[in-house]
Amino acid sequence: MEYICCHCKRKKSNSGWVKQKADPAQRHSHGYCPECFQAMMEKIEGHVGMDKAIAESCVVSL
Ligand SMILES: [Zn+2]
Repeated sequence: MEYICCHCKRKKSNSGWVKQKADPAQRHSHGYCPECFQAMMEKIEGHVGMDKAIAESCVVSL
């Protein structure tokens, strides 16, 4: 199973989040890398109708 950030398309590897092509042989799970998660959180800060807890459940931590 590979994790891919659905925003910047980077892939989670042992050395962190890298720009790399997804391996078609692997199963993929989409989420947010910590960087994009932060950026998204700042963006939606104050937004109505967005549940922070739901967004937080999307983050894939290293
Ligand atoms: Zn990202």
